[in-house]
Amino acid sequence: MTTEPAGEWARRRTFAIISHPDAGKTTLTENILLASGAIHLAGQVRARGENRRTRSDWMKIERDRGISVSASVMTFEHSGLRFNLLDTPGHEDFSEDTYRTLTAADSAVMVLDAARGVEPRTLKLVEVCRLRDIPILTFINKMDREAMEPEALLDDIQDKLALDVAPMQWPSGSGRRFKGVMDVRSNEFLVFPGVEGIEPGKAARRVSLDDPQIGSVLPGDEMAELLDGAEMAREVCPPFNDQSYREGHLTPVYFGSALRRYGVRELIDALAEFAPGPQPEPALIKGAQTSVDPASKEVSGFIFKVQANMDPNHRDRIAFLRLASGEFKRGMKLKAETGKAITISSPVMFFAQDREIADEAYAGDVIGVPNHGVLRVGDSLSESGTIRFSGFPNFAPEMLRRARLKDPLKAKHLKKALESLAEEGVTQLFRPVIGGDFIVGAVGQLQFEVMQERVSAEYGIDVMFEPAPYETARWLSGSDADIEAFGDRHKSAIAQDIDGDPVFLAKSQWEVGYSEEKWPKVKFHRTKERG
Ligand code: GDP
Repeated sequence: MTTEPAGEWARRRTFAIISHPDAGKTTLTENILLASGAIHLAGQVRARGENRRTRSDWMKIERDRGISVSASVMTFEHSGLRFNLLDTPGHEDFSEDTYRTLTAADSAVMVLDAARGVEPRTLKLVEVCRLRDIPILTFINKMDREAMEPEALLDDIQDKLALDVAPMQWPSGSGRRFKGVMDVRSNEFLVFPGVEGIEPGKAARRVSLDDPQIGSVLPGDEMAELLDGAEMAREVCPPFNDQSYREGHLTPVYFGSALRRYGVRELIDALAEFAPGPQPEPALIKGAQTSVDPASKEVSGFIFKVQANMDPNHRDRIAFLRLASGEFKRGMKLKAETGKAITISSPVMFFAQDREIADEAYAGDVIGVPNHGVLRVGDSLSESGTIRFSGFPNFAPEMLRRARLKDPLKAKHLKKALESLAEEGVTQLFRPVIGGDFIVGAVGQLQFEVMQERVSAEYGIDVMFEPAPYETARWLSGSDADIEAFGDRHKSAIAQDIDGDPVFLAKSQWEVGYSEEKWPKVKFHRTKERG
């Protein structure tokens, strides 16, 4: 079936999976791709005893499976929709990239470990989703093991994440008792087949709860427990509401086991049913705050990630462009807000099996644009060059280090190196008003290692990142007089970021809170929009 190009964008579903390490994101990604037919099973070989996680969770899949998925975007078709699954690096690789990827997603799947509930990393990622009110669908994973009670899990989500929860399914216990889930809307029981036997992509067998057959699956006491639980959930939880979900206030909840492929197909079906397609993107056009509709004709998009040396054979950088509108054709010339024009002659599109050259792409799609460092995170591209997308926050760093040179004569070179990496979005750079050292900020340890390697390899400079007496940073706003007064009192803790904006380097979260109370006219921001 060919869809009218005009409607192509409307069938895009661009989403990311968010989770705390070890909750099962990799396993779920793999099984979503298997279930959708995007990749084929090449033998179940999981690497055991890994000491160090790979740079991308998808590279891990690639190594385990012997297939090529080294991409930041995986594309698959299901129910007549084109899904783009964006990789959000986890583990040590956790960085601003992870946060920024969420600016390119129209919705998210939150994976929780059923025995652990909401964990710290989940909390942070949900905070980021909230900046753009990204709708979140919840998958409670590892139900095949002993889990927390479903009621407790729902409470946990509600309390820690301040999200309303609407269970769409109710599990028949956990561990060995997890034989399936009740579909709360249809009053059917979805029977998951015996432990190993489920084919990827196959939906679970549905049995009506009124069907006497159900007795052979669920003994009377288990059935009673299931009905009790579901009944209570119906009384306590709000029913699913599409608008509430789309506004990011309510999350529908599904249960399953990524490893055993229980509930994976149902999760994809849920995404097909509820996940929103491309939305209007807030933008500044000729100085006026407006938004760009995905249906509008002009091709436009924004860069949300820049990756160096993805493929050792191509030493270029690849900038990831998320299209916001129009029908992109290969060879098109797009302009940055600076007026600089780029002809995109060999854009890269991402499929499960291979990278392919893209001929056309639509709002919601992501294309890789090879370039020599011209494109930066947060850049907007459009045919007219007049569109500037807003909403690309920098996030307050959670680790701050002082950059120290082995050879003090190289200070100028170091400045250049650190500035260029900060512009690329690898790390953030702060220059204290007093003293000559640079303070480098990141949200994950790996960013410092990457930075050290790159400064050495690309600029030939030995740099060390030493502990700094600061724990976090806040961007300051308010009247010039108020900021100056605050700065006078905290001289040694004031710095400028790469754009020259004032930043408060705080010794602790407590100090941030204290300063906020004492200086009500000064605003302390955890994020800063670029540009
Ligand atoms: P990630 O760190 O979130 O990407 O998590 P992984 O997908 O690497 O999974 C972490 C561990 O949990 C691995 O050992 C998986 O085999 C295991 N795991 C993932 N999903 C399930 C599940 O549904 N049930 C069980 N029992 N184990 C799982």
